[in-house]
Amino acid sequence: MTDTQDFLNDFHWLMDVLQDIDVGLVILDQEFNMQLWNSFMQNHSAKTPDEILGHNLFEVFPEVPEAWFKRKAEAVFMLENAAFTTWEQRPYLFRFASYRPITSLADYMYQNSTLIPLTNTRGTVTHICLIIYDVTEVAVNRLQLQDVNAQLHTLSRVDGLTGLLNRKAWQGELEQEFKRFQRHGSCSSLIMFDIDHFKRVNDTYGHPTGDEVIRQTSATLRNQVRDVDQAGRYGGEEFAVILVDTDAEGAQIMAERIRHAIAALSVEHEGHAVNFTVSLGIAELNASVTDPSVWIDHADRALYEAKNSGRNNTVIFQPPNP
Ligand code: GH3
Ligand code: MG
Ligand code: MG
Repeated sequence: MTDTQDFLNDFHWLMDVLQDIDVGLVILDQEFNMQLWNSFMQNHSAKTPDEILGHNLFEVFPEVPEAWFKRKAEAVFMLENAAFTTWEQRPYLFRFASYRPITSLADYMYQNSTLIPLTNTRGTVTHICLIIYDVTEVAVNRLQLQDVNAQLHTLSRVDGLTGLLNRKAWQGELEQEFKRFQRHGSCSSLIMFDIDHFKRVNDTYGHPTGDEVIRQTSATLRNQVRDVDQAGRYGGEEFAVILVDTDAEGAQIMAERIRHAIAALSVEHEGHAVNFTVSLGIAELNASVTDPSVWIDHADRALYEAKNSGRNNTVIFQPPNP
């Protein structure tokens, strides 16, 4: 056998390997015409060689972003260095359907890609090779994990019965608001409220009806406050709301709205109709509040006053006279 035959045999084997490899290969010239491609590309694109070979990449695959790809390819031609793109930067270059059963959660194949310069015998780069890796499994697993983590994060902040922030998450928001006040002197107010004679509801109608009262109180609260306000379940039948950019007078208007809405509510459960009221305490954030627990203490004292003065009313915290 001559050297040329050896070379051709080697080349033939090499081409067989490249045809069957589970990676996409496309060879492009400087005009981005496709000169060679393997069966991975053919199978996934469902295009025949006639539709591909000699045709322009961007005409056949309009999903490939032309300006971005050209910038990337031109650097490969000029600097003669490889360039990489991951699915996290761009989920795919070619919009191929995902076909593996395990990854049926994905609508399309996630891809990593590499562009490598191909040097001719005279040492110049006349072509580039685009390599496409199917990374759908990795991507789907990663995305599912991120999704589950985000759900866990949300669940860990939310109270199961009411959907409001739980005490810990709410206190975190209170601390953030306090820091905002320290940095910018922003004005905000806190409302804490408690259902009046709630023990009676439990004792008279049972715990499940008590739960329904708590749920509907929370829903009423959520309907009354703005999206920016942070509403939480502070304890059993105690609730708290941080009203941003709101002084004590504004908070009083909001508190009275909540109070009236709850007084007008009739909770129907297991054949009973339960009417009930709440008492509310308000504390404005100002220089007398030296840390978040003092702010809560002020609102709590006002709430205590509201209870002591007959319930079903709103009291604003007043600093004791010196
Ligand atoms: P007051 O007007 O002084 O607030 O009277 P109250 O009866 O509401 O007094 P208190 O705050 O002591 O009672 C709260 C009751 O709420 C005691 C507790 O058994 C009940 N409770 C706490 N958490 C839940 C809950 O998740 N579901 C139900 N159904 N009851 C709860
Ligand atoms: Mg109570
Ligand atoms: Mg209570």
